[in-house]
Amino acid sequence: MAPPIVQLDAIPLEGLSLDLTLEHGWLRDLLEPTGAAPAGDRAQTASVRLDLQGREVLVSGSLHLTLQAPCVACLEPVQFPVGQSFQLLLEPAAVKNTPARPGEEVELTADELDTDTYTDDKIDLGHWLREQVLLETPVHPRHAGECPAPLNVPETSVAGRGSAVDPRLAVLKTINLKKE
Ligand SMILES: [Zn+2]
Repeated sequence: MAPPIVQLDAIPLEGLSLDLTLEHGWLRDLLEPTGAAPAGDRAQTASVRLDLQGREVLVSGSLHLTLQAPCVACLEPVQFPVGQSFQLLLEPAAVKNTPARPGEEVELTADELDTDTYTDDKIDLGHWLREQVLLETPVHPRHAGECPAPLNVPETSVAGRGSAVDPRLAVLKTINLKKE
């Protein structure tokens, strides 16, 4: 299931700590536009803490994900951790404080649109975690350092270097022996 929606009055004064296991299907769906996906069967988790600051809610936590996506250099899958911590301050949606009169248009300034808010006394953790995952998923993932060599690399350049004697040299050796 998706991360829960937490009711404001379910947050105790001392704060609320949650350890969430993020369902693969949920992650897969939200990551699909990015080309990334949860890696293998590893547990994908997030720890989240909610603290009340008056009517504002401080949401902090960290992601513990292992994702995979095609490497931009060699197109082979590359796995990478997504594990940053985050902190958001949410305030009650402005409409709640200043209800518009019927027929009155509510003007949204750019400032207000950028403000993180919650509505109806609900903190939708799915919404905020989704945003964090998308923010931290690399757009152009690639292998750290050298990409691993393709599996079907021709080995001719390597053969003959070891203890095996080049056939041409072997012939010379035989000739020398005959001279003696
Ligand atoms: Zn690569």
